Amino acid sequence: MKKISILGVTGSIGTQTLEVLRFHKNEFQLLGITAHKNITLTLDIIKEFSPKVVAITHKESYYELKNILNKEEINCELIYGMDGMIKVATLPDVDIVVTSVVGMIGLKPTLEAIKNKKDIALANKETLVVAGELVMAEALKAGVSILPVDSEHSAIYQSLQGNFHNKIDKIILTASGGPFRGYTLNELKDVTVDKALKHPKWNMGRKISIDSSTLMNKGLEVIEARWLFDCPYENIEVVIHPQSIIHSMVQYTDGGVIAQLGVPDMKLPIQYALNYPKRLGNISEKLNFYELKELTFEKPDLNVFKCLDLAYKAGKIGKLMPAIINGANEICVELFLDKKIEYLHIPKIIEECMEVFDYNKEVTLDNVLEIDKQVREFIYNKYS
Ligand code: NDP
Ligand code: MG
Repeated sequence: MKKISILGVTGSIGTQTLEVLRFHKNEFQLLGITAHKNITLTLDIIKEFSPKVVAITHKESYYELKNILNKEEINCELIYGMDGMIKVATLPDVDIVVTSVVGMIGLKPTLEAIKNKKDIALANKETLVVAGELVMAEALKAGVSILPVDSEHSAIYQSLQGNFHNKIDKIILTASGGPFRGYTLNELKDVTVDKALKHPKWNMGRKISIDSSTLMNKGLEVIEARWLFDCPYENIEVVIHPQSIIHSMVQYTDGGVIAQLGVPDMKLPIQYALNYPKRLGNISEKLNFYELKELTFEKPDLNVFKCLDLAYKAGKIGKLMPAIINGANEICVELFLDKKIEYLHIPKIIEECMEVFDYNKEVTLDNVLEIDKQVREFIYNKYS
């Protein structure tokens, strides 16, 4: 039985990972979980899966859950904060850690898990965006695998099977285009939170839903792909594919393109990462090719969806620039969701941060955490 920890168990990816575990009860055992504020769901998960260690990163929620566990005489180790997340990520018996917290808060526990020789099923793309160089070097040193959960990267990983020795010409990342596909810059001016949260194909957490609408999600994924597959930015192309059936593709130097297709369902890439290299049965609906009317493709408009352009630029500049845009984006999305800034302020503020901050430092954990803190303070002070 594979032993698993899940960081961010109460989220969209966390709960879909639990669905996979429920489906394959004899394959996996859940030993550790972390959550932030949702203690009602955490309690249900504790009762159902009996994890040994639980970490809660929000203080009041931690005390609230502690009281409930005492009252109900439920026996599990409950720990608070980053120390708790690290403990869950490094439990001695755990084989694989699913990183499904949202934001660069996942960086530290992921690095600790790697140092403790855990394989990583990586959903938390922000970790690779802010410190891909560092994370991949540590993974190589520790001899662990970083298995992508992000559907596009899982598709690329699947398309690389049997081809790791062959030269890639191009990685082609597909994007649904989000709720504002085809909009002009002028039409984006009046975008509301509700509209931005309505993704046409995927049901996801709030932060990634906003990122998908601005195409920053695709920008973060370009940087994620650069590090996961050691591929130069020049060879990573984004194609809008509104049907979300082809999850991404690899073009080899002979012109052959290998793609992975499937219904849009995150349980498939989660399950693939958890049991790689073996495929387990029947987690998703099957594609019906007779019902598929068309598969279409478009070029993204970088003048309208500026976040994608900024992410490419930041990636190419390198050093701390990806951490700067990531921190700026995390705060801008938070402020937009709180209705403190307008939709088009998101790329504007990110671009401002790219000009204001000094990116030219080595990618170390301390430098990444420090620049992230500075960017957050700068935006809070100026815009909230
Ligand atoms: P959600 O918002 O649904 O879930 C986030 C999880 O992180 C929850 O468990 C939440 O706890 C926890 N969390 C929130 N804030 C903090 C914090 N400050 N410290 C520690 N934990 C925290 O996000 P998603 O599941 O949608 O996304 C998770 C990650 O996976 C992201 O990096 C996203 O980009 C990536 N991803 C998601 C996809 C999807 O389909 N959803 C697809 C591909 C990648 P609580 O709920 O208890 O407050
Ligand atoms: Mg994705």
